[in-house]
Amino acid sequence: MFFLQSDLSNSKTMIVQSVLKKMGLYNGKVNGVNNTNTEEAVKQFQSRVGIPMDGIVGPTTYKALEKYILGYTYYRIEANDTLTSIAEKNHSTVNLILSANKDIDPNNLNLNTVITVPFNYNLVMDDINYTYTAMWYNIMGLIQRYPFLDVSSVGNSVLGKELYLIKFGKGVKKIHINASHHALEWITSVFVMKFVESISRAYMNGEEIEGYNIRSLFNTHTLYIVPMVNPDGVDLVNEGLDPSNPYYNDLIRWNNTGRPFSEVWQANIRGVDLNHNYDAAWQESSNAGKAIGITGPGPTRYSGEFPFSEPETQAMRNLTNNEDFYLAIAYHTQGEVIYWNFMNLATQRDQDIGDILANASGYSLDTASGVSSYAGYKDWFIKDFRKPGYTVEVGKGKNPLPITQLPRIYEDNMRLILAATTVWCKL
Ligand SMILES: [Zn+2]
Repeated sequence: MFFLQSDLSNSKTMIVQSVLKKMGLYNGKVNGVNNTNTEEAVKQFQSRVGIPMDGIVGPTTYKALEKYILGYTYYRIEANDTLTSIAEKNHSTVNLILSANKDIDPNNLNLNTVITVPFNYNLVMDDINYTYTAMWYNIMGLIQRYPFLDVSSVGNSVLGKELYLIKFGKGVKKIHINASHHALEWITSVFVMKFVESISRAYMNGEEIEGYNIRSLFNTHTLYIVPMVNPDGVDLVNEGLDPSNPYYNDLIRWNNTGRPFSEVWQANIRGVDLNHNYDAAWQESSNAGKAIGITGPGPTRYSGEFPFSEPETQAMRNLTNNEDFYLAIAYHTQGEVIYWNFMNLATQRDQDIGDILANASGYSLDTASGVSSYAGYKDWFIKDFRKPGYTVEVGKGKNPLPITQLPRIYEDNMRLILAATTVWCKL
């Protein structure tokens, strides 16, 4: 059976299945595979929104679905409306409506004013192979319901995608968190996005997480989160190689493993391993690569022609140079381990903080060795700023980790990040 429009990719189909599931219309697997269950769910959705029920996700149906992927609608206030009645009519909550509309006065609603009404479900798609498109939808949806999030871009990938920065908080204590330097490790992007959504919801509701008062945290700290450092690589892994890719022929040549990109590709789209491209023992990193036969672009461990040769690492350098982070965490997979030192430049303070993070997460604290101990983000952060920097390797198993590991990764690392807010090192 073939019912989805031909240009709807496997990853887009997963997004469709994921949102239909959220709406309670689909209960099959979120696997990107067209099947009868999905077709039935699409028909039910079409019926609900008044589109002819052909079970096909064409442009009209997709456009209608996008509203639910973004998780909000616009509503024109009618006579006798209250926030409670608007929330009930639109599957929302009073808190969400108040959060999304800063200037609204609940006791004095203005007839015919158009307001934003977020739907009452979590946006971050934690059941799909996450892509740049999925992250884009989630960011665009989150800033509507949580306008206190400050979203900007620190630069562009080789293929021009935005390197998004999400800021949470307005405090002077700045922590940096980044994810997905490595393409196969995209589950770290889902984790940090889910974390952003959880703390934002807690902030809105005035709730605590694990005993942490999130509204106080918002006032004392600012979390600088770059959820996807390597979007081109992540999309190559999760969407496959499209013939329109300007590096199409190069990529086929560079991947000499005999295995698909989805199993082996860690680098950016030019075959540079971004976590070996920082200016911290870069020459040693390059030499160590050559010693194991890596002399040019490929799936993993190529350090590039020179330090900071890639726009993604340049953007991370500029962000880090411009802000005074007292602590930085770079998320990777796998091993449930936290790496803390670099060439003995870190101090006892950094090891002590590492112990706190290890206790909070249940991960072990260790030092990296061999080729992986050079030219990474945390190495450069420690070398240039002499502040505590950590590589956190989440989950266990073979990369890419299945999305089923996310709940455990979330629990462990939500605690880890919150614990990082309890330390302070002004130098
Ligand atoms: Zn990694």
